[in-house]
Amino acid sequence: AADATDTIVLPGVERPSGGTPLYGLESRGVSAWFGTHKVLDRVSLTMQPGQVTALIGPSGCGKSTYLRILNRMHEMVRTAGLAGEVLLDGEDVYAPGRRPADVRRRIGMVFQRPNPFPGMSLYDNVASGLKLAGIKVSRDHRDHLVQSSLERAGLWNEVRNRLRTPGGSLSGGQQQRLCIARSLAVSPDVLLMDEPCSALDPTSTRRVEETIAELRGRLTIVIVTHNMQQAQRVSQSCAFFLATHDTPGRIVEAGDTEQVFGDPADPRTADYVNGRF
Ligand code: ADP
Ligand code: MG
Repeated sequence: AADATDTIVLPGVERPSGGTPLYGLESRGVSAWFGTHKVLDRVSLTMQPGQVTALIGPSGCGKSTYLRILNRMHEMVRTAGLAGEVLLDGEDVYAPGRRPADVRRRIGMVFQRPNPFPGMSLYDNVASGLKLAGIKVSRDHRDHLVQSSLERAGLWNEVRNRLRTPGGSLSGGQQQRLCIARSLAVSPDVLLMDEPCSALDPTSTRRVEETIAELRGRLTIVIVTHNMQQAQRVSQSCAFFLATHDTPGRIVEAGDTEQVFGDPADPRTADYVNGRF
């Protein structure tokens, strides 16, 4: 039987079969309700493999809800209130028999507030993703995964001599990169980031943006941001979400980031990206 160690391949590392498969994510007609309150209306979006897709739009238009639906993190699945499909590599992540934990391993999530385990060592924080996903690896292989994940998150040089210190001892920006490393350790195909820099100072924000730029092409990234400059710096594609008091969140416009910002098709997009909202 194949050892679990054989199946762990970091994004960008060549797979045994040759080449590095990159998987895109697609939603088709996703609508969502909290009780009778409809918050998303027929959201269809293709997130291209290896690219960074930015989701922009005012607060309350359903961006976080949408991200949680993409990786089955949302409790709404159980309380009904969901329609449409989410496809990873063409396969519905809500297919019967598909385990949410497996979906979440393949589609990682980083939140606005860095959430490392504060009392746990840096090493164990990164390795915890493996444990939670039920992935058993040899100690050497785990060491390798922890190091390469920290390298990819742009944190290795800062922490290589203090891997046994607690996660809570890092600065906010370092904690966020630690969380990125934790996500990367399980070799996800997709990384979802919900306003990952909103709680960070400008220097830490720049470091996280550099990390995203490094990861581009190695896995598929979706980032929610309220920072229009950031969306333009890090993303190749962009989707503008909008809700009003009586209409649920919808995509008004999606396309190449350059086009959405430089030549928006919808006047509401032009107003939003130019700060007139
Ligand atoms: P955004 O991330 O774009 O600010 P959210 O996805 O957080 O938007 O919220 C979209 C809408 O869904 C809002 O009206 C919000 O109040 C509502 N909402 C979000 N989470 C819940 C929840 N757990 N229960 C009920 N309503 C919710
Ligand atoms: Mg949100």
